[in-house]
Formats: sequence, structure tokens, C-alpha cells
Amino acid sequence: MTIDHNQLRLLPSVDELLQLPATQTLVAQFSRKLVLQTIRASLADARAAIRAGATCPALEALLTDIEERLTQQQQPSLRPLINATGVIINTNLGRAPLSQTALQAVQQVASGYANLEYELEQGERGSRHTHVRHLLQELTGAEAALVTNNNAAAVLLSLSTLAQGREVIISRGQLVEIGGGFRVPDVMRQGGCQLIEVGTTNRTRIRDYEAALSARTALLLTVHPSNFLITGFTESTPISELAQLAHKHGLLVMDDLGSGCLLNSEHYGLGHEPTPQESLLAGADVVCFSGDKLLGGPQAGLIVGKAEVIARIAKHPLMRAMRIDKMTLAALEATLRHYQRDEATTHIPVWRMISARPERLASRAHAWVTRLQENGVVAHTQRGESTVGGGSLPGETLPTTLLALDASRLSLPLTELSKRLRSRSIPIITRISRDSLLLDPRTVFEEQDEEVLRALREVCL
Ligand SMILES: *Cc1c(COP(=O)(O)O)cnc(C)c1O
Repeated sequence: MTIDHNQLRLLPSVDELLQLPATQTLVAQFSRKLVLQTIRASLADARAAIRAGATCPALEALLTDIEERLTQQQQPSLRPLINATGVIINTNLGRAPLSQTALQAVQQVASGYANLEYELEQGERGSRHTHVRHLLQELTGAEAALVTNNNAAAVLLSLSTLAQGREVIISRGQLVEIGGGFRVPDVMRQGGCQLIEVGTTNRTRIRDYEAALSARTALLLTVHPSNFLITGFTESTPISELAQLAHKHGLLVMDDLGSGCLLNSEHYGLGHEPTPQESLLAGADVVCFSGDKLLGGPQAGLIVGKAEVIARIAKHPLMRAMRIDKMTLAALEATLRHYQRDEATTHIPVWRMISARPERLASRAHAWVTRLQENGVVAHTQRGESTVGGGSLPGETLPTTLLALDASRLSLPLTELSKRLRSRSIPIITRISRDSLLLDPRTVFEEQDEEVLRALREVCL
């Protein structure tokens, strides 16, 4: 192909572009350095296109391209999005949204200094764990409490402290992979303990644990299967029986609950999610759970249990490597205070979504349809199910009303539509089921409704 040098010569120079008032506005917004880089990149691409046979782009088109590139590049990599999937706790989407109060607490503590490890009364060094210790004791009935940066750390730290170089007995039915590579057997190995598997996948009885006891046993471990369900011919050993057996032999029982649910999930139309309160009452010596699953707070690991056991864990050298930071601590304290004031279901977003009234969800979905129809977008509502997610309540669903856009009524394939919704400056994540694109109002905040409607109008028309 012959290169059209006339077309190449028509391209403006970097300096010519930089002098334009439109470009100067961009300089004020993004800095001279970034605008220069972007002009060069844009011109290079235009030159390559001309060499490949294109004509010189109009000045307007070049300027638009430069502005789009700058806006695109300067978008934060980590940014908010709208979760229309109906999965309330989704690890990929950042798990639990924080309450307003928790957010304010983070802002106040992070924008200045704080008494993170400072005793105000004595004017001496203090411990960061004191800020939530009493709340956790009060809410779970534990003698003592400790916090880490996530639950995987809480489990690893507890096992390393309590069972390093010794044996840990666990049911085969609980050797689970939680997702994101957290496999119970691997974590146990990292904790330096030897795994003793007992029972079968579907049934483990107290005799199985008893037969596995040895002089090297340190503890009996139970793990909440979190993301899967074994149904049918099943039997697992209650913690109370494990505790009896362990304590008779001077051993400990540890419970990795995963999603620490402090409320009674059955009051919300869900199955029973085990709580730390129950584990402790049943005799568990140490219980670990997440801060950002059903607790509805920030990413954190919570360890509650017997005073003597928690004190040992607190002294382990790994504690320092896994410690919680001040922003997380501020959000966690504020979240726990919602439970203390009995306002979890009205203030914590995860619980507001779980307890959203079906009539309210239906009326929002209907309002979405009406608004879209007014703008010429054909949509309808249909009954559907939301899920709690986050490795809690596997198999449990909550009835909802979905907004559905049918493939047969759209000019774009569903995968293209969902891609366009994801690539907006405020991305919207949806579900595709058979021949429809589905949006669940349960996980969309009401203040996001307008943006959802705007996006659907823009991508569908
Ligand atoms: C989710 C989960 C973990 C890991 O917790 P993170 O907070 O993600 O670190 C560990 N154990 C169980 C049983 C879980 O469900």
C-alpha cells in the first residue's frame, strides 16, 4: 500500500494542539505532563491509521479522542459500581457496604491522629484491641476478643498459636475450599499443624474424633462449610459433644464460623446460620469469623473465646503481621455499635438488604419498568430470587422482583448489553439468565435508581 504523505502532513503538530483553548482546559484539569503524553499517543495512533490507509482525522475528532483518553486513564482503578446481581455479599464486588456511621467513623479517624494505641487516661501506650474488645464480649458472650485484618489471618494465627507442631482433628466433611484459594488443609499446614481427618464426607460422629485422639493432639477444629451444602444422609457432631470430649482430655475446640452472623437469620426468612454466641455457649474455646460477611462491616477477622486462649494468641509473633489498621477498626467499632443499639437491620446495609420488604422491591421494579417504557425501552418484571452470598447460608434464597430485558426485544445481544453496562464510568453489574438480562433492586441502593435508569436508556436505545 502507498502511504498518503499529504494526509500525514495534514495532522497538526503537538505544539499546535497544545496551544488550543480546549487543550488548555485539559491542562488545567489533568496537568501539562499528562496532556502532552496523551497528545503524543493520540497523534501516533492517527499516524499509524493513516499509514494503514485512513484519512487524516478532523481536529474535532482528535480533540475528542485526547479528552476521552485522559478521562479514561484518570479514572481510579478501584472505583464504586452498582451491584444489580441480587447477591448481597459478593467478594469480587467488595463484600459488605458500610453504614453511614461506619463511614463517618473512618473519615474522622483517618484524616487526623487517633488514640489507636494510646491510653488517654494514663497518657501511656495502649492496645488497639481495646477499642472493640468490650463490644465483642458483650455481643457474643465471650470472655475475651482479638481482631486481625481478615478471617483467614484469624484462623492461621489461632492455629499457629494453639497447634503448631501438633495434631488437629477435623471432619472430612469440613475440609473445604472457601474460594479465592482459602483451603482449610493448606491453612492448617501453614499453621504448622498436622491434619488428622476423621469420618467421611457426609457423616462424622463423636466416636471418630475419639478414636483419633493421640498424645500429639492439640485441638479439635470445626469449619463452617460456608459455600456448599451436603444434604441427604448426613451427620455432623455438635460442638457441645466435641467440647465435652476435648475438655475431658485437656484439649481445645476451635470453630471457624466463616460468616459471623450475630442476629438470628431465621427471623429474616432464612435458614439457621450458626452464631458465635451459640458456639461459645456450646463450649468452643475459640471462635473465628469475618468482619465483612454477615456482620456487615469492614474486612477484618474476629477471634473470640476463653481469656487464657485469646491471651496466648495475642502474644504470637504473627499477630503483628496480621494486625488490623485504624480505618478498619473505626468502621468495625461503629458497625458493632449498631448491634449494641439493636439497630443492625435499619442501619447496616447488608441487613437492610436482607430484610427489604418484598412489596417494596416489587414496587421499585415496577417503577423501573414504567420509567423505561416511557422512554421506549421494553422491559417487564418477573419473580426471582436474591442470595445472601459470601459463603453464608448456602442454598438459601430471598424472594424478589426482578427487572427483565428480553433478548428478543433488544437490538443488541445480551452479552454486549451487559458489557456496555459494565464499561460505564459507574459500572453496573447484572445477571444473564437464559434469554433475559436481569436486575435485582435488592442490592441496588435507592439513590442509585436514577443512574440505573439512565444507563439502561443509554445502552438500549
Ligand atoms: C470466608 C471464610 C474464611 C475466610 O475469611 P476472610 O474474611 O475472607 O479472610 C475462612 N473460613 C470460612 C469458613 C469462611 O467462610
